[in-house]
Amino acid sequence: MAITLPELPFASNALEPYISANTLSFHHGKHHNAYVTNLNKLIEGTPFAGQDLEEIVKTSKEGIFNNAAQVYNHTFYWHCMKKGGGGKPTGKIAAKIDEAFGSFDKFVEEFKAAGATQFGSGWAWLVLDQGKLKITKTANADTPLAHGQKPLLTVDVWEHAYYLDFQNRRPDYLTAFVDHLINWDFVNSNL
Ligand code: MN
Repeated sequence: MAITLPELPFASNALEPYISANTLSFHHGKHHNAYVTNLNKLIEGTPFAGQDLEEIVKTSKEGIFNNAAQVYNHTFYWHCMKKGGGGKPTGKIAAKIDEAFGSFDKFVEEFKAAGATQFGSGWAWLVLDQGKLKITKTANADTPLAHGQKPLLTVDVWEHAYYLDFQNRRPDYLTAFVDHLINWDFVNSNL
């Protein structure tokens, strides 16, 4: 069974004015879609054909890994956002963040710093690592799923994620993501 491009979990204009429908049309419709198309071409006739996406991410290398991980990371990223999201977390994650980072403000500072200091393309993450909350960053297509960590939250810091709306102001994109977009219900559901 081929890997398919999932629908966005919100309307294409739902994240405006922070992430525009124009950004999403390229980011989901072109970039994410291209990773799906490339992955299906690369796995055709290999033992990876018919495996589920997470299995492919955990066991593949190089070209197949890069495309599979990008398909996985993008699908995960869309679910990390919602209209009217962001701000202080609710649910179980709120207490866990206070316990791990001291306060929500400290978490925000560290999460934004991870995204701002990822050199070039990549991702900032909140993960569970051996049961503990950690902030990490990965380069290019790399993903915590390939390193035995459980992803809870991610933000895409490739330029294609923010350049049409924020140009080179990656820190402003990160602030908008944290203040207005994070879907804490999804983060809680990953715990
Ligand atoms: Mn992207």
